[in-house]
Amino acid sequence: MLELIPAKPKSLDRYLESVGEEPLEQIRSLAGQLEGARFLHVNATSFGGGVAELLATVVPLMRGLGLDCDWQVMFGSDEFFNVTKTMHNAMQGMEVAWTPQMEKIYLDKVIENVQRLDTSYDYIVIHDPQPAAMLHVLEHETQQLPRGKWVWRCHIDTSDPFLQVADFLFPMIEPYDAAVFTMPDFVPNGYGLPPVELIQPCIDPVALKNVPLNTATIRAIWESYDIDYDRPTLCQISRFDPWKDPLGVIDAYRIVKEEVPEVQLILAGSMATDDPEGMHYLHRTEEHAGGDDDIFIFTNAHGVGSIEVNAFQTGADVVIQKSLREGFGLTVSEALWKRTPVVAGNVGGIRMQIDDGKNGFLVDSPEECGVACLELLRDPTRRMTMGDAAREFVRSRYVTTVLLTRWLELFVRLAGQG
Ligand code: UDP
Repeated sequence: MLELIPAKPKSLDRYLESVGEEPLEQIRSLAGQLEGARFLHVNATSFGGGVAELLATVVPLMRGLGLDCDWQVMFGSDEFFNVTKTMHNAMQGMEVAWTPQMEKIYLDKVIENVQRLDTSYDYIVIHDPQPAAMLHVLEHETQQLPRGKWVWRCHIDTSDPFLQVADFLFPMIEPYDAAVFTMPDFVPNGYGLPPVELIQPCIDPVALKNVPLNTATIRAIWESYDIDYDRPTLCQISRFDPWKDPLGVIDAYRIVKEEVPEVQLILAGSMATDDPEGMHYLHRTEEHAGGDDDIFIFTNAHGVGSIEVNAFQTGADVVIQKSLREGFGLTVSEALWKRTPVVAGNVGGIRMQIDDGKNGFLVDSPEECGVACLELLRDPTRRMTMGDAAREFVRSRYVTTVLLTRWLELFVRLAGQG
């Protein structure tokens, strides 16, 4: 078996206050149609990054609905995760050096994983490129014919991939029963993909990361990190990754600093186990910060977990998400839900979440980012109006119950296909 991630069943009743009765009834009715079926989600890490965040909510909720649902994480190695991070970068459009040796490292590890995979589930959802070749390998290397329905969930922006890597990966997606993307723009042309579904990630309004915190708690958390809660503060919560552009965030902060000298910047990012670039990029970010005492750089090694992320996102005056590519950007929804206006890169899934000028600003450069942050820092009334618009925007589109409904609808449809 692959590594089984423990998940305690979570009751849907906890969402009543956030979303009302009707969506919950719909979910229960869909779950009723799937009674007795077994579900498996497979991804590459149980910690750090949006996919782990999503599965940590969806799997317990499916269990809470009485469905037999497991979450398993594939086995990797430094070599494998270096290859898959290169693959991830290439799928998001970076030109990379890609070799037959890298393809071999990738496929050999997927084969090892498939040999340990329990394929008796009725629905198997494979997340992102790392385990994407599993179905292909199962059919070609082991000659096993899988009996369940297989879904590939692509969480990244594959609208303009580096072709050499795309030509390697996408043909292996063909045998799936469905491929799920976040936005129509991300669906690549020219490959024989299975039927495409569009599903957006969502945040969990009852998770510790997103529940309301009182000011005393927020202040205490800030103070425990030596951050002055009374000063204007910008914040970006993201893995240390070139696509998240932490260096650009520091440049934007410096623009703000010229006009608002007391401004502070918090950069917090967890180290995902499948992201070998993280440490290197953390060091680059620290170097770029150049010992500025008003820039606070933290990772999970400093104890930054869900409640700290919550306190930073809630207490900051502006949340930045200056991504250069972004599959969705859960951090954007998380901040909007907390009524904190967001200044974010005008890319990928972020465009679905920011209604420019209404619940935040979309920006194309560190300069634009700095100017938008300044505008918001100078106008508390605007921050409040934007914050109110932001919360309602997320409530109707990007909370867990919406995501769960979409997944269950897809499973029911697949069941109907025999
Ligand atoms: N996150 C966290 N701690 C950190 C940095 C990030 O818990 O120090 C969480 C963040 O709150 C969000 C997820 O990791 O829930 C990141 O998801 P997103 O979709 O923004 O980006 P990804 O990492 O998947 O590219």
